[in-house]
Amino acid sequence: MDLKGKVALITGAGQGIGKGISRALYEAGADIVVADIDLSLAIETAKEISFSLNRSIGVRMDVSNSIEVKEVTDRIFNEWGRIDILINNAGITRDGLLIRMKDEDWDRVLDVNLNGTFNCIKTVLPRMLRQKYGRIVNIASIVGLTGNIGQANYAASKAAIIGFSKSVAREYASKGINVNVVAPGFIDTAMTQQLSEEARSDLLSRIPQARLGTPMDIAFAVRFLVSDEASYITGQVINVNGGMLMV
Ligand code: NAP
Repeated sequence: MDLKGKVALITGAGQGIGKGISRALYEAGADIVVADIDLSLAIETAKEISFSLNRSIGVRMDVSNSIEVKEVTDRIFNEWGRIDILINNAGITRDGLLIRMKDEDWDRVLDVNLNGTFNCIKTVLPRMLRQKYGRIVNIASIVGLTGNIGQANYAASKAAIIGFSKSVAREYASKGINVNVVAPGFIDTAMTQQLSEEARSDLLSRIPQARLGTPMDIAFAVRFLVSDEASYITGQVINVNGGMLMV
């Protein structure tokens, strides 16, 4: 899979799955923009994944802030001339049973996970259309397909990402733009490290492969979807979950 000459923007990439995706795309030859709400994490990751600093940079970008998304992507277009690959990976949880869920926790999860994905695609798409080329992968979740107790906000945001992605895929399929979704199961990152021992062993008992996934398990699926080998794949949801959900 040769991504030489391609510019990839990965959101929420300072750590976890986004960092794994940045590493995999860098190793396939792409130039990488590591974007995260935390600038120092973004810069650190850009340095860590890269042998040549000319091929990766770290930037601060809060995906829920459409003005900031426009400023940062304008800067990338000015300095690097294009964005070929957009990975909407930034995501957060604010868990709680619905009856006790605070309005601000509902709003913030929708703002980052769903509106953030909308902001980035809306901003980058016009230039991808001019390039007649774009590869977009949105990171949803197994929970967007199954639902999960305590995660009504998160599940709603991830299910919405799937419908949104299929719509955008249909609208621009004839214009050289592919839009796909990767739905991870439970992956060993900061997001899942908060689980209690009991919750973790209950989870493992429900995963046929009996292990949590790694960021690279997700990154390799993303790398395939943005490669030329996947050019006839659009509007799909790829489940990467150790067999926890089979559809
Ligand atoms: P993570 O380790 O928490 O990393 C996510 C990164 O995104 C963090 O650096 C976070 O910064 C950053 N971020 C938060 N809000 C942001 C914003 N508004 N704009 C830009 N960046 C922001 O999470 P992860 O586990 O790698 O998850 C990555 C994606 O995979 C998410 O969309 C998540 O929903 C999805 N996913 C994860 C799992 C899993 O089991 N881990 C399963 C299914 C789906 P802060 O740390 O400062 O908030």
